[in-house]
Amino acid sequence: MAVVGAGVSGLAAACEIARAGRKVVVLEASERIGGRLLTHALADGTTFDLGGQWIAPRETMPRVNALLERYKLRTFHQVDSARMDLTTHKLSTLSRMTKAEWEWFLAKLDELAASVNVEAPAETADAKALDSVSVEEWKRSNLDSPYLRDIFDQIVRTEFTLEPKDVSMLYFLFCVKSSGGIETMFSSDGGSHTMRVAEGLAALCDRMAAELGDRVLLGYQVYDVIQRPDGVRIVAEGAIIECERVILALPPNQTQRIDFDPMLPRRRMWLMQRLEMGTVIKCFALYETPFWRGREVQVVAPELIVLDHTLDASTPAEGDRPAHHALVAFIGGDDAIVWSDRSPEERRAVVLDSLARVLGPEALHPIDYFDHDWLAEPFIGGGYSCYAPPGVVTAGLEDLAKPIGRIHFAGSETARAYQGYVEGALEAAERAAQEVLTALVHDTV
Ligand SMILES: Cc1cc2nc3c(=O)[nH]c(=O)nc-3n(C[C@H](O)[C@H](O)[C@H](O)COP(=O)(O)OP(=O)(O)OC[C@H]3O[C@@H](n4cnc5c(N)ncnc54)[C@H](O)[C@@H]3O)c2cc1C
Repeated sequence: MAVVGAGVSGLAAACEIARAGRKVVVLEASERIGGRLLTHALADGTTFDLGGQWIAPRETMPRVNALLERYKLRTFHQVDSARMDLTTHKLSTLSRMTKAEWEWFLAKLDELAASVNVEAPAETADAKALDSVSVEEWKRSNLDSPYLRDIFDQIVRTEFTLEPKDVSMLYFLFCVKSSGGIETMFSSDGGSHTMRVAEGLAALCDRMAAELGDRVLLGYQVYDVIQRPDGVRIVAEGAIIECERVILALPPNQTQRIDFDPMLPRRRMWLMQRLEMGTVIKCFALYETPFWRGREVQVVAPELIVLDHTLDASTPAEGDRPAHHALVAFIGGDDAIVWSDRSPEERRAVVLDSLARVLGPEALHPIDYFDHDWLAEPFIGGGYSCYAPPGVVTAGLEDLAKPIGRIHFAGSETARAYQGYVEGALEAAERAAQEVLTALVHDTV
């Protein structure tokens, strides 16, 4: 058995297969494991996640919590950052009329999201109509206030790292419903932003890779997958592997770079080509003091680029290790494309300048700054995830997970719930591993 991709999904699938007593090898193109999970450690061992960072409690995200327990990794509560969040601040200063319009808009969104069939989004009532418009078009027909439109854009960019024009309205509603609603998506109290992992979320991948040992091969970019009636031949950088079945645990934008023989059904290729990878640069600034706490957030000038989403990323003191006071900010959507082409120094300057405009001049003088440009990752190409533009959900998005002969598909984008999250990546791994284990029994009968 072979698994392509040593992100959290590929590693989890490989571990399940190995635990079931089957031979498995993981082929990873990059020289590191983890994919969209990547942890930066300070000299004293304190960690900051440059990729996936937050999780929800067990009731909402059972798989990731179970895995953290399995490997005895420790979680801590995200600092409550309501006052830090610019969107929250803008919403708290609305006039009565504007507030009423916003509440009406959210109620309408909630009502529509409730109507989505999460198991089969294409079978939602009115699916064709909702999938034929972008979030941008729907917003323009349902929200008049330019100020509220701007706030809504920020919410969409924060959650999808794409512009509202790039996302199907049906897909947006599907994500809202399958993640428990907009409130849950953002909440640091029971929602997706509730907890962090002391060792860093990428420690999950380190532990799984340690369990798999020399069965994880780094620097093996897979180019060709050749399917024959009795097996699969995989051509990778410097190796040819023959196996019974393969799991591709890659984001769809990378899967479609592989040559398949025979070709995959055209509809599947089309789906993978249409799905769009989000664009994001995640930035951390560390300070002597948490000067922003208790301070009134300022509303930034519209021409400023970053800070759609800025949170307190501080870490608590632990043993001999001091607390670290940190902010995390995201450059997302079209801005990320522009700033990916600029130098790291220019990017640092604009991020700190933007933080200073919102939180005060102290932001210009961090004791440390680091960021990660996900667009520059050669085998991933962006983040947080691939999303559906108009027309794709009703053209068979849910088929993305279906096996094609001896080829199986994992990866966060193929999940039913929490698509684009680590929880979704683990759900997909579980499903793909079970498919393969069942098929292997039949293959050998
Ligand atoms: C900035 C950022 C913030 C995020 N925040 C959160 C969060 O707070 N909470 C959350 O739950 N999720 C978050 N996510 C999303 C989460 O990280 C991903 O959903 C998850 O890590 C995806 O895992 P995966 O295994 O499906 O794919 P990936 O991690 O993308 O793994 C795919 C692997 O395949 C490899 N590969 C690609 N092509 C080939 C090839 N041809 N041959 C061999 N190998 C190949 C890649 O190098 C990569 O290692 C975030 C992501 C980003 C980028």
